[in-house]
Amino acid sequence: MTRPKIVAGNWKMNKTAEEAKALTADVINLSRAELKGKAKLILCVPFPFLMQTRAQTDGSAVGVGAQNCSEHDSGAYTGEVSATMLKSAGIPYVILGHSERRQYFGENGPLLAKKVDKVLATGLTPIFCCGEPLEIREKGTHETLVKEQVQQSLFHLSADDLKKVIIAYEPVWAIGTGKTASSQQAQEMHAVIRKHIAGKYGDAVAQSIPILYGGSVKPDNAKELFACQDVDGGLVGGASLKARDFIDIAKGAE
Ligand code: PEP
Repeated sequence: MTRPKIVAGNWKMNKTAEEAKALTADVINLSRAELKGKAKLILCVPFPFLMQTRAQTDGSAVGVGAQNCSEHDSGAYTGEVSATMLKSAGIPYVILGHSERRQYFGENGPLLAKKVDKVLATGLTPIFCCGEPLEIREKGTHETLVKEQVQQSLFHLSADDLKKVIIAYEPVWAIGTGKTASSQQAQEMHAVIRKHIAGKYGDAVAQSIPILYGGSVKPDNAKELFACQDVDGGLVGGASLKARDFIDIAKGAE
C-alpha cells in the first residue's frame, strides 16, 4: 500500500511573530517553486503564531499544526489551549506526546490517551510521538518501551479512529543532538510499531498509518531515511527553522 509522505516541522519555542511570518512565507514560496507536491508539508508553530500562519498558508498546500493541547474541554485551566479552540481557529493538526512534553511536563501514557481522545473527538489529526531515551536504547529494551507507549495511548481506540492518527517515532537520543538513527535503526523500529499495530488491528489498518521519523533529520540524511519501507516522512525540529533546509528535507520525501 502506498501511504502519503508527510514532512512536519516542529518549531518548538522559537521565533518572534515577524520571524515566524518570514519563515512561513519562505516555506510557501520555496515549496511552490521547487517541490512537486508529492509530500504533505505541515508547520507546527507556537500557539501565538497559529492564526497568522494559517492565514498565510490559506490557499497553499502547507498545513498548520499546534504542538500540544489540553485533555480538557474548557474551563478553569489557566494557560491551557483546548482541541476545540484549535478547531475553531482552523488548525487541523496537533503534536501530542513529544518527548520534551513527557520529560519536562510529566506527560505520560494515560494522560496522552485522554489528549488523543479529545483531539480525535474534535476532528483534528494528532501527530502522536513515541521514542526511547538513550539509557533504554543502551539496555536494549527500546522495542518494549515504544510498544508500551503506543499501546498505552492508542490501543483503546477503534480501528476507524486509529486510522486518523499520524505516529512519529522519535528516539530521544537523536532529538536535537545531531545524532541520527541510521536508516536501518529507523526502519527496524517503524516495522516494530507497524507489526504491533497489526497484531491488534490487523494488517490493513497497520499498513494505512503514516509513521514519521524524527531525530536530527537534515537535508543530507532525509532521502535515505524516507526511502525506508516503513518510514513515511519526518517530524523535523531544528532544521525546520530554516526554510532552505526544511524544503531540501521535503525534497527527500518526493
Ligand atoms: C523534534 O523536536 O521533534 C525533533 C525531531 O528535533 P530535531 O530535528 O532538532 O532533532
